[in-house]
Amino acid sequence: MEPTRCIFCEIVAGRAPAAIVWESAEFVAFLDHQPIQPGHLLLVPREHVDYLFELEAPRYRDLWDCAQKLAIPLKKPRGPIASESP
Ligand SMILES: [Zn+2]
Repeated sequence: MEPTRCIFCEIVAGRAPAAIVWESAEFVAFLDHQPIQPGHLLLVPREHVDYLFELEAPRYRDLWDCAQKLAIPLKKPRGPIASESP
């Protein structure tokens, strides 16, 4: 029986298409393919977790720090996301 495939891991590995807008050694951010508003991003860890709250404390905090920094240009009209680390 084939294990259930995780679409986020497929995107992180480059096996599934996604409009990646930012990435680091730990996280990848890409546009949601069914956005609820313009600029709707998904930020996921490179390591698989079934549930976001399973992330260890330092990485969990880092993810939310990245989410906060990635949200800043989204508040500006058509603001680009910096290519440098947030
Ligand atoms: Zn996964």
